[in-house]
Amino acid sequence: MESVKLNPMLRRFPPKYAAPGDLPAFQLQGLQWTVSHAWKNSPFYRKRLQEAGVAPEGIRSLSDLSRLPFTGAEDLRDGYPLPLLSVPPREIVRIHSSSGTTGKRKILCYTQKDIDDWLDMFARCYEMAGLSREDRVQICVGYGLWTAGAGFQLGAEKFGAMTIPAGPGNLELQCTFLQDLKTTVLCCTASMGLLLAEEVNARGLRGRIALSKVILGAERTSDAMIATIKELLGVKEVYDIPGLTELYGPGTGLSCRAEAGIHYWADFYILEILDPETLQPVAPGEIGEMVYTTLSKEGAPLIRYRSRDLTRLIEGTCPCGCILPRHDRILGRSDDMVVFRGVNVYPGQVDEVLSRIDGVGSEYQALFHRGKDGKDTMTIKVERAPRLGEGADAALARAVAEEIKHNLMVSCSVEIASPGTLPRSEKKTRRIFDNRAI
Ligand code: ZN
Repeated sequence: MESVKLNPMLRRFPPKYAAPGDLPAFQLQGLQWTVSHAWKNSPFYRKRLQEAGVAPEGIRSLSDLSRLPFTGAEDLRDGYPLPLLSVPPREIVRIHSSSGTTGKRKILCYTQKDIDDWLDMFARCYEMAGLSREDRVQICVGYGLWTAGAGFQLGAEKFGAMTIPAGPGNLELQCTFLQDLKTTVLCCTASMGLLLAEEVNARGLRGRIALSKVILGAERTSDAMIATIKELLGVKEVYDIPGLTELYGPGTGLSCRAEAGIHYWADFYILEILDPETLQPVAPGEIGEMVYTTLSKEGAPLIRYRSRDLTRLIEGTCPCGCILPRHDRILGRSDDMVVFRGVNVYPGQVDEVLSRIDGVGSEYQALFHRGKDGKDTMTIKVERAPRLGEGADAALARAVAEEIKHNLMVSCSVEIASPGTLPRSEKKTRRIFDNRAI
């Protein structure tokens, strides 16, 4: 009957529901528990729920989720240090914190059950990535208040592999351990993975190491980064772990081994994809903001927490056989979104379209103007690839305009620039210029 064996790789840390059709009922139970737990134990949540006119007994179906109030980073800052605390403080066994780029840190707290759940989620990542207890896992991410070190390490221990908490940086030590301990799995950020891959290559260590997999986390990745890491380290499999400190940390999902998106652990949280302007669900497969509601988190539960991260859901059954649902990779931040002629335009989306066009260089800018007639226009400036001459510009401009029109449903004019002429910065390069309000 079933042509694909469901969850073939998840024997020890399987989904908590048996078939895709069982997920809504499972999530509803968790949602009811969360709303009731927050109502009873958190003055912050009770006030918010009262303001929204929702009481726990009003949650009767998953569609009632849409009646719940939103929360966000500003709530964590305004109520610093522990606004979402929903248990007596003595129940808290762990604090983590993310270094906010602006203002105060975000502080999150965990009960022992929260930690246990997180480690089960993380162990599931390792199982889904095909590890066995014979594997040796070298963890080169930051430790301490940051969630990555604790998550990667304790998750690997829970799974039962040998863990090597090497920490970030220190390429000398990393290379020594790769050779002496015959590490088979490397866990790191994409930038660290690239650095280490280049170092291994420069030292000619390829034949003396035993790496077979790389698991990336805590940073946005691109196909180009992954391809370079694979090539330089000689590994076949590179996985990507998404994560958000407010949720638990990394380990709440894993990229699919069939390279068909990121499976996320829907038995621990509900993921909504909403239009960041209207806060209504986007059409299936459309890009929107990731909004999280936890199903069993005790210490600091999340109710419709706006992450500002953008992605889209991937519909249908995954060829890998896993029943856990999927989303695409993170496509940018909703703070960078521009509304142009009624259409939401995201930097990550422009990025994605341009990266598929042959002959386009690595830098671009999207500029938005308002004419005297009140009409908005968009101009895309892109660099031509270094191998091409100016003679190619007209055809390239046509290709860019067509692809943008086809994918974003908006028209634009295109200017082609010479390679290396658009500004670059070591930090975050600004690529979207909305000049309409000026
Ligand atoms: Zn899959």
